[in-house]
Amino acid sequence: MPVVVDMDGRLVSPREATVSVFDRGFLYGDSVYEVVRTYAFRPFELTRHLERLGRSARRLALTLPWDAARIRAELLRTLEASRGGDPADPPETAPWNAGERSIRIIMTRGAGEVGLDPALAVEPRAIVIAGPLRAPPARAYREGAGCRIVGVRHDAPDAVDTTAKTGAHLSNVLAMKEAREAGAHEALLLDRDGFVTEGASSNVFAVRGGRLETPSLAAGILEGVTRGIVIELAQAEGLPVREAALRPDDLAGADEIFITSTAREILPVTVLDGRAVGSGRVGPCTTRLHASFRRRASGSEEALV
Ligand code: PMP
Repeated sequence: MPVVVDMDGRLVSPREATVSVFDRGFLYGDSVYEVVRTYAFRPFELTRHLERLGRSARRLALTLPWDAARIRAELLRTLEASRGGDPADPPETAPWNAGERSIRIIMTRGAGEVGLDPALAVEPRAIVIAGPLRAPPARAYREGAGCRIVGVRHDAPDAVDTTAKTGAHLSNVLAMKEAREAGAHEALLLDRDGFVTEGASSNVFAVRGGRLETPSLAAGILEGVTRGIVIELAQAEGLPVREAALRPDDLAGADEIFITSTAREILPVTVLDGRAVGSGRVGPCTTRLHASFRRRASGSEEALV
């Protein structure tokens, strides 16, 4: 059974996994979530994801129905139940992603009488969904992907939906629509002053003059788990890292660009707004960092890319 849903501690099939139309996650996006992936069927960096879930919940004053130990246990149980019965991976799947799982943890404030007051809901809900990992095809890592700087602006740095991972993501949804209509894989959003913030579902890095640059958390971006690991890996490899305010021109003139997220890992960006980035090929820093990321993720010293 490749997709399994844990609804408040009960394992059900996707068809049986339903929530009330009075659930505040549905009505107001009054929920928090995380997406974790596996390597060799083991959750990767679960502690960091659970810490971020806790921070998101505190930002919404949402009392999580389960503590971290319970979430961990339910997640492992759901993951195990999703083992086997997979349709064959598509032939373009990157080999290291074959058979892996993506696990979404969703905690909503629950259902109650309709109204904004959070006190109207008394029973928060806990949902875990384990299913096949959807990640970019192998070709995207060899050739790079395209990004589009979209017109939709990033929410203000102190907006709740930018810094917490909540169920309300409308700017990102519209940004993605704009990017896909322009034939790009991912949207990059600017803030109101025209500085680069992050992707619709990723963080962004540029390599300029032998240095790695990325917008700082003060820009109100999500503190990506992958972003944090990439910064650590770069520093360990002696590649200088600077958290910097970047303009679209800085990206356009960069030697290399890549985006990071749980499912994508480090995805090279070789086209920005329809124009080649640097040489137009996947650059050496991106390749090196992705190789060390793969070593770290697989827990082995052998590079898998
Ligand atoms: N920014 C946004 C807006 C996201 O939705 C995501 C995906 N969670 C990221 C960045 C990347 O975060 P992570 O590396 O933790 O997946």
